[in-house]
Amino acid sequence: MALGALEAGGTKMVCSIGDEHGRLWTRETFPTTTPAETIPLLIDFFRRHPVEALGIGSFGPLDLRPDSPTYGYITSTPKLAWVQCPLLPTLAEALGVPVGLDTDVNAAALAEHALGAARGLSGCLYITVGTGIGGGLVVEGRMVHGLLHPELGHIWLRPHPDDPAPHGFCPYHDGCLEGMASGPALQKRWGRPACELEASHPAWTLEAHYLAQMCMTAIVAFSPEKIILGGGVMQQAHLFPRIRAEVRRMLGGYVRHRAVEADIDQYIVPPGLGADSGATGALLLAARAAGGNSPG
Ligand code: ADP
Ligand code: ZN
Repeated sequence: MALGALEAGGTKMVCSIGDEHGRLWTRETFPTTTPAETIPLLIDFFRRHPVEALGIGSFGPLDLRPDSPTYGYITSTPKLAWVQCPLLPTLAEALGVPVGLDTDVNAAALAEHALGAARGLSGCLYITVGTGIGGGLVVEGRMVHGLLHPELGHIWLRPHPDDPAPHGFCPYHDGCLEGMASGPALQKRWGRPACELEASHPAWTLEAHYLAQMCMTAIVAFSPEKIILGGGVMQQAHLFPRIRAEVRRMLGGYVRHRAVEADIDQYIVPPGLGADSGATGALLLAARAAGGNSPG
């Protein structure tokens, strides 16, 4: 069964074709400009590569309430051209196939749970640390929604005493995780792109401290069975041991479980599917929309 996957990101749109087992075989990327320019390119791609269903993992916030008149819309995004964009209805009408939608990070969490680092567990938390920070949560095999969906990138943090920019850079919040620890926040604080900051730079001590606060909060709030950290900033592999050590310190021995003690190296981990978590998750959303059985 040919299924379509769309990773809708704030800078690029990645269209893929694959199957219900999460295998990907064709991929094309388009820049995210305005809906009027970008959406026709997506429709054209999926007309050239016909699919039985489409799954979308998108930046948001999104309206994911199926009974809402604006179901499948991007809602209040800082990307102003996309505010109130009817992403799902437009693609569903143009392509005439079932379309499934969730946040990019919920899709990635779904894929990591079904086929990646959290296979065999009852759920996981997937965090991307890139241009933004987002968290997707799978609990007992289901992606978590609610009023909207979790927005873990915007939890408040306690600033590090050595932080020269302790308020961070989120236009909405004083000192939230995304405003403190995203790739652009690192660049604004230190005046250089994050990928150019050497491993010994104090930036990474602060970064590990902030990402550990997020892990600590998530552990006590949701008790995830695995925490998967992906996205461009996590290419800095030296962050993993630092974050794990900080998490253990912050937990203070309160959560008594092997996973966060002796086995923490297997608890806070990179994505098992590498850079493919999002696309694979979108394929699994397509399989669900098609009504077929899928590993997700
Ligand atoms: P996006 O979030 O746009 O989907 P990425 O996950 O690749 O894309 O995140 C891009 C951000 O990650 C940029 O701010 C960039 O500076 C940062 N980044 C990319 N590669 C690295 C790296 N090797 N080390 C540190 N930061 C990186
Ligand atoms: Zn914020």
